Amino acid sequence: MTGNPIAVFDGHNDVLLRLFRRGGEAERAFLDGEAAGHIDLPKARRGGLAGGLFAIFSPSDEGSGGGSKVEELMATPPYDVPLPEHLELTFAQRVTVNMAALLFRIERASAGAVKVCRSAAEIEGAIAGGVLASVLHVEGADAIDPDFHLLDVLCEAGLRSLGLVWSRPNAFARGVPFRFPSTPDTGPGLTDAGRALVAHCNARRILIDLSHLNEAGFWDVAKLSDAPLVATHSNAHALTPHSRNLTDRQLAAIGESGGLVGVNFATSFLRPDGRRDADTPLEDVIAHFDHLIGKVGEDGVGFGSDFDGATVPRAIGDAAGLPALVEAMRRHGYGEALLAKLCHGNWLRVLARTWGEPRSERRADLAA
Ligand code: ZN
Repeated sequence: MTGNPIAVFDGHNDVLLRLFRRGGEAERAFLDGEAAGHIDLPKARRGGLAGGLFAIFSPSDEGSGGGSKVEELMATPPYDVPLPEHLELTFAQRVTVNMAALLFRIERASAGAVKVCRSAAEIEGAIAGGVLASVLHVEGADAIDPDFHLLDVLCEAGLRSLGLVWSRPNAFARGVPFRFPSTPDTGPGLTDAGRALVAHCNARRILIDLSHLNEAGFWDVAKLSDAPLVATHSNAHALTPHSRNLTDRQLAAIGESGGLVGVNFATSFLRPDGRRDADTPLEDVIAHFDHLIGKVGEDGVGFGSDFDGATVPRAIGDAAGLPALVEAMRRHGYGEALLAKLCHGNWLRVLARTWGEPRSERRADLAA
């Protein structure tokens, strides 16, 4: 073993939302580090977090927002968290542009330490050079107008991944509510606009994120999309019967498509009892890895931490705690080749395929 932790590329974080709410000198807080939050540059470096999808998420109002209230209500199962109505388009657009700008400002202020990557080759290069590789992702298409004007502009700016819907309904799809216990089969599938959005994402080779989408919508995308099926931050419904988790049938479809599931550290989606509780053992995280590997295959599982968007196990704590999880996976019996796939190799392969890049076999074992 070298002194460097294994490089982790992660499918989902909400650090931009945390920084957006924080205000003030957000770029400097990210680059210099601060006590609050799961991800900043120093914590990422300590934990081997080498890159990931950085989500833009429009909260239901600027002051408080969807996420934290939802988290509170998931403390005591059973629950069915009421969600606000759909967002007004211009509000969501303003927030989206603001949060995208925040990531670009971090990149500029970082003097080369952070890069907004637009291809898998760029991600590989950044990680190899010790640069934090961020990919711009939009969680929930609330800001996307029906003629895709903003989507085209965001795509030119660097957007490479889009979740059709968060748990709040929008013009394109219905998401699952935060409900436990519940299947993900909670409502109708995609609207006509949602079908058009899938075609547009395919044409522009934007990754379509299936996390938060309900089951009918999932099967619509599976039928319509020509890309690998990807759920950036979801777990196994067979272990934790939460609406946000994926059934074995869904997992099999993801595997058949050559897609990927990112394991979510949100304790409500990890624990058999669906409770939000930081006292959740690493064994619960590993149980989901085991189940997902069994159903999707060892080439179709990665990380999808939900850092800065959820209560994670205390044993991980924040991005600096990733080596504790990797070490527990190693003790559980995962070999180095499998760890390299789970930590970054699978994400890089699936992103390259989704984005239409020639398959790269290089760098199977990136260290951070
Ligand atoms: Zn999410």
